[in-house]
Amino acid sequence: MGRFRPEKHSQLETHNYAHMTRRYNPRLITSRHSYTPEEIATLFHINKKTIFRWLGDGLHPLEKNTRPLLIMGDELRNFLSEKMKKRKMPLQQGEYYCLKCRVPTRATSGTEETVPTGKTIGRKARKQFFQRGKCERCGTKVNRLV
Ligand SMILES: [Zn+2]
Repeated sequence: MGRFRPEKHSQLETHNYAHMTRRYNPRLITSRHSYTPEEIATLFHINKKTIFRWLGDGLHPLEKNTRPLLIMGDELRNFLSEKMKKRKMPLQQGEYYCLKCRVPTRATSGTEETVPTGKTIGRKARKQFFQRGKCERCGTKVNRLV
């Protein structure tokens, strides 16, 4: 591995970090390597808690009950690229992000339902709900928090 050389626009990216949501460079990840949450935190200079949040958000560890948890590079890269794509495509009212079509989509009418997540939000403990349905393009289940 050569010495790290900053790219021309790295100045701009660094500047953006302060104002925008963080971007994760997928090139830092080795596909066939397995990472502990600590290693991922070190890799991206982020808090380990963030990794545990990702694990709750759909990042899959190799095995659920091993300590430390191990996450394959491939899985991590896919998870982060989906995460960044979602961010680039803010959803409009009534839209869902379909993981299969990889675009914002609508649900086929009649398939939509609102379900409590069992969690509450904020000090007033407002109940949190998610809405789910089937992608009108491919029929895959889609959901989003409401
Ligand atoms: Zn779809």
